[in-house]
Amino acid sequence: MNLVSANLERLRTLERWTRPVDPEVRTALDRRWAELPAQVKTRSQTVGRHSVGCEGTHGVFPRCNLACTPCYHSEDANKVRIDGTHTLVEVDRQMAYLRSRRGPRAHAQLIGGEVTLLTPEVHAEALKLMRRHGRLPMSMTHGDFDYDYLEQLALAPDGMPRFGLLSFAGHFDSLMIGRRGIKRPRSERDLHPYRQRFCEMFQRLQREHGVRHYLAHNMTVTPQNLGEVAEVIRSCRRMGFRMFSFQPAAYVGDERRWREGYRAVTSDSVWAEIERGAGARLPYKAIQVGDERCNRTVWGLLVGERWVPVVDDLVAADLEVRDRLFTAFAGMDFGAPRALLTIRLARAAARQPGVVPLASRWAVRLLRRVGLRNLLRGRVRPLTFVMHSFMDAADVKPAWELLRRGELSDDPRIRATQERLQACSYAMAHPESDELVPACAQHSALDPLENIELRRRLPLVGGSAR
Ligand code: SF4
Repeated sequence: MNLVSANLERLRTLERWTRPVDPEVRTALDRRWAELPAQVKTRSQTVGRHSVGCEGTHGVFPRCNLACTPCYHSEDANKVRIDGTHTLVEVDRQMAYLRSRRGPRAHAQLIGGEVTLLTPEVHAEALKLMRRHGRLPMSMTHGDFDYDYLEQLALAPDGMPRFGLLSFAGHFDSLMIGRRGIKRPRSERDLHPYRQRFCEMFQRLQREHGVRHYLAHNMTVTPQNLGEVAEVIRSCRRMGFRMFSFQPAAYVGDERRWREGYRAVTSDSVWAEIERGAGARLPYKAIQVGDERCNRTVWGLLVGERWVPVVDDLVAADLEVRDRLFTAFAGMDFGAPRALLTIRLARAAARQPGVVPLASRWAVRLLRRVGLRNLLRGRVRPLTFVMHSFMDAADVKPAWELLRRGELSDDPRIRATQERLQACSYAMAHPESDELVPACAQHSALDPLENIELRRRLPLVGGSAR
């Protein structure tokens, strides 16, 4: 190769590298968009435009040492031994499949089971494997573990951090039984010290070792604790959580843990309580993730005790910005190194004349909502609210079976379930059958058989505990 062609090759590589959207990401997004049912292909939709959606592991460590009512895991989950080798082999297999089907980048949950029943070493290896496959992992936990565990997870044996950032979702609610120190909480308020302790462990880790964190708070909502949702938000929004995610209870998983009355809790009733806690209207129609019946999400800023949205669906100029930014920047990897991201942003903006002034006006509007003084005083923090409504197994099982046969149901209820499954934003990998499975279908239709098989392969007796 002569000098000219070598330089041309370098330029081509640079051009590809600084493209606003990686071509592989573009292909994965286009494929996902094409799969979506027509009714969710709206201007506010992010799935298939900005991301392929979220992912999660299954069958990698099904066991948990707390009990919840309800519990989405099948009856046999707690009879499966935690086995580090099995966990790592399965995580690797599932993530490789997700990488091949859904492109080089996605958020993925390391979920079982209780993740801290893995040894810190196995847990760390699983996170590394996920990253190796381009996944941005989040560990899903009940939060009942100690600082020693967290430190061992975060640090290599030589004492150096293995990770620059750890993402965890802590599930805390009064429907959980067996937490150390508070076996049976009588109210959500009883759990506040445990929520605080959870956040403080990560803050200490950052102070002592420089490992940053992203923390989400998960909570199942039933008629029993619906009235406490607002108080949880008000009391805990300053603890350090960046996201509050609420899951209205569904009849899925272990039937022995189901209670009466879950259907009395509607999406609107839960959302109203979240709004009461946030002290603001939460404009979830501005930006949609999958199907509105599954997900409501709002991104915003906590300013003192006030929450303000990043995009307000009642402000026409905000919606215009949303549309223009989606067109200009959708699919871009905002986690890329800063210099590279700047070049990509500049290239994307150059193709969309007018987008920079428009975005600048939006930034000024946001600054007015927040207040310059609040910003300068450090009183502004990002805070996201999410509601994720799983579906009942009785609906999901027939809906999924028909979908697998390529059939749409005539029954309106099952048809609605199918639409939601098609627009699912939370996928699990089945390389053995070459399928991506919505988490609802996983928990309703596949988990029970999967766990019976795992119980046979990894019995509780006769193997190592971890
Ligand atoms: S189909 Fe189920 S798992 Fe998928 S987004 Fe909807 S509620 Fe969530």
